[in-house]
Amino acid sequence: MFLTRVKRLRLWQKAADSSYVQRLQAFEAKFNEYLATPIPPSERKRPTVGNPIAYFCAEYGVHNSLPNYSGGLGILAGDHLKSASDLNLPLVAIGLLYRYGYFRQKVDHDGWQQESYNDIFQSHLAVTPVFDANGERVTVSVHIRGREVAAQAWLAKVGRIPLYLLDTNLPQNGDVDRFITGHLYGGDTETRIVQEKVLGIGGVRLLRKLGVSPSVFHLNEGHAAFSTLELAREHIAANEGASFAGAVNVVRAQCVFTTHTPVAAGNDVFPTKILSECFSDSYIESLKLTASEFLALGRADLSDDSEGFGMTPLAIRMCRSANGVSEKHGEVSRELWLKMFPDLADAGAVPITSVTNGVHPPTWIAPVFQQLYEQHLGTSWHEVIRDEETWATAVNFLPDADVWRAHQTLKNLLIAFVRYRTKADETGEHDTINERENVKRLFSPDVLTIGFARRVAAYKRWDLIFSDLPRLLKMVDDSERPVQFVFAGKAHPQDRTAKKILQELMSINHDSNWQKRAVFIEDYDQEVARYLVHGVDVWMNVPRRPMEASGTSGMKAAMNGGLNFSILDGWWIEGYNGQNGFAIGDLREDMPEEEMDAADAEAMYTTLENDLIPAYYSKDEAGLPREWIARMKNSLVTLTPQFSSDRMLTDYLNRIYDEV
Ligand SMILES: *Cc1c(COP(=O)(O)O)cnc(C)c1O
Repeated sequence: MFLTRVKRLRLWQKAADSSYVQRLQAFEAKFNEYLATPIPPSERKRPTVGNPIAYFCAEYGVHNSLPNYSGGLGILAGDHLKSASDLNLPLVAIGLLYRYGYFRQKVDHDGWQQESYNDIFQSHLAVTPVFDANGERVTVSVHIRGREVAAQAWLAKVGRIPLYLLDTNLPQNGDVDRFITGHLYGGDTETRIVQEKVLGIGGVRLLRKLGVSPSVFHLNEGHAAFSTLELAREHIAANEGASFAGAVNVVRAQCVFTTHTPVAAGNDVFPTKILSECFSDSYIESLKLTASEFLALGRADLSDDSEGFGMTPLAIRMCRSANGVSEKHGEVSRELWLKMFPDLADAGAVPITSVTNGVHPPTWIAPVFQQLYEQHLGTSWHEVIRDEETWATAVNFLPDADVWRAHQTLKNLLIAFVRYRTKADETGEHDTINERENVKRLFSPDVLTIGFARRVAAYKRWDLIFSDLPRLLKMVDDSERPVQFVFAGKAHPQDRTAKKILQELMSINHDSNWQKRAVFIEDYDQEVARYLVHGVDVWMNVPRRPMEASGTSGMKAAMNGGLNFSILDGWWIEGYNGQNGFAIGDLREDMPEEEMDAADAEAMYTTLENDLIPAYYSKDEAGLPREWIARMKNSLVTLTPQFSSDRMLTDYLNRIYDEV
């Protein structure tokens, strides 16, 4: 889009600007050098360049200019590809290209969330059409609603990694079918099923057309689980006399599955009637299954005929490995899916393991910190992260004042961003909460800043923060040691409870300093996330245990010197060491929900009042909060390597992708 919009005159002006051209050339050289680094000979049998990993996901958050994601799952998938590229791992990714992406959020004067969609044009995106050897556009066909629906392939290059995206918006398809890849998570049940057919079945067919023979199929979340059916169908079609059971053995040997939610309701479960309508009799016959055997593939409890068709049971059945995304989530998943294994005595024996999520350091570490690392460690600083000891020595060596200065610069940048996004003249908005006339007094760089950005969903407990409003406002209004808050997050369009929680937050007290010390930034996305995780002092998370499968935003904050202040759930159970941030409450689980909420709220306020706020405001003669900086460094030292997506990819490679 940038290249189509920029004026020719402007391009010639820049072409005559030698320092600009030099920067561009240096950047190009750096990128070419990155791409040209030879792939070291692998000692592993697989994956290899000829037999790569095929990674399937319903969404990808690679960069803000490719709005093809809704939240954490997509960002994680994007970071997975980037680390695969950095580590030179042969991987081919498959997804869908949504014409309208995910909804954009505004909040009106009544505090009510409004949704809208932008029409994206492929010509404006960094994707290119895929052609075959004859110069024909590569398409695949999937049988849907009694018709053959065509999907065309686009290629996005993520470093060395090809990301193929399928899209059904083709003239030869009927109007309804053209919209299959219209909205991400926006449609009804039937749309969702047919989208997942295009992803899973169409995805496998695309790989075959491209001549890619993966050694491993990684299904990232259940959305892509229909791919296992297609692999079984292929096997049966190619081997006369093959049975479905025989095909399952072959498919299982190739497929691995990652589950991402610890709650039963978070998994795709389709009513069997709608599901049956979406699969033709001949497809089910080609699997050598009866209709009822087919439906049983998606059931957790085989004795329960009333159960819907679950994508997670299908995936667990058809994959040789299943994993959750943190140690705790692995444990919770084993309990959740124990019912699939009636022969097992206890959850401990359920074959679900875990690989804790990570984030991509070069994507999430702010340029200011990258420069600091470059000065002390050279340009390959992000490779040093892979060696915990060298990294620890290097970070501990950084002068406190430099770390603090870098942080304050980022905090000022965040404040400028907050003011920009809430000033009417700048944004041109006149129908939302954020149309302030004067933003000069909004936020201060000297005030402790807490960030809270996440999906608005009941278990994330946004309401815990304002459960004792007078106590909260007392902290915000404190004249010596005040606190300011920056919020962001979307509620699912159909989730009225979540929207009401958001509305309640918007209506907080107008007489206090809340108005100048708390803001809600609309339309949380990768760009907003970047400003927030770079610039806040504290990143807060208060989910109801054990519902946070992992969480990754806290890792991003940690890598920029932000301190986590979080319930001990998901990744934070593994990350917290007593000195690298703050824990809210303990690991107790034996309480009714209401009591747990009350106990956690009390722990949250008390820790803020007694530990966190005093620690932040205790400074030495030079104005440096030494104790706080020590915690920042401890956080940088311990959390950066442990929660880097390089570590995550290495774990997948050694424990999941490699043949057992
Ligand atoms: C990192 C990220 C997430 C996931 O963060 P959680 O900790 O799981 O809430 C969601 N959305 C965006 C835009 C992100 O960058």
